[in-house]
Amino acid sequence: MEESTSKILRPSSLGEVQTWKKQQYAHPKWEAKTAEIRRRDNNQCVHCKTRDEKLVVHHRQYHTLGGTWVNLWEYRDEFLITLCDTCHRQGHDAYGNGSFSKKVDILNILNGHI
Ligand SMILES: [Zn+2]
Ligand SMILES: [Zn+2]
Repeated sequence: MEESTSKILRPSSLGEVQTWKKQQYAHPKWEAKTAEIRRRDNNQCVHCKTRDEKLVVHHRQYHTLGGTWVNLWEYRDEFLITLCDTCHRQGHDAYGNGSFSKKVDILNILNGHI
């Protein structure tokens, strides 16, 4: 049985996006997905290779399907990467939090290609 997850139609405000993201990131399926991605990436940051920092799983792009945002744990693995907190923050600092609209790849930014 599929438990209901809150899907929203194209978020119109930043507040709406933030509320949705918070619910999504707290979801057990997202927890399971991050564990899987971290295992794939050898539990290290794919950019600086550290294992000594808090690791986060970053979405390289965000997608919509039929007018709703795709659940965070339903992305194909190629769109998910493990980064340490520092690299993740550096990448986001470089392009802001506009990841919902901008298709800029965080690894290109961190590697200085953009
Ligand atoms: Zn790193
Ligand atoms: Zn991110």
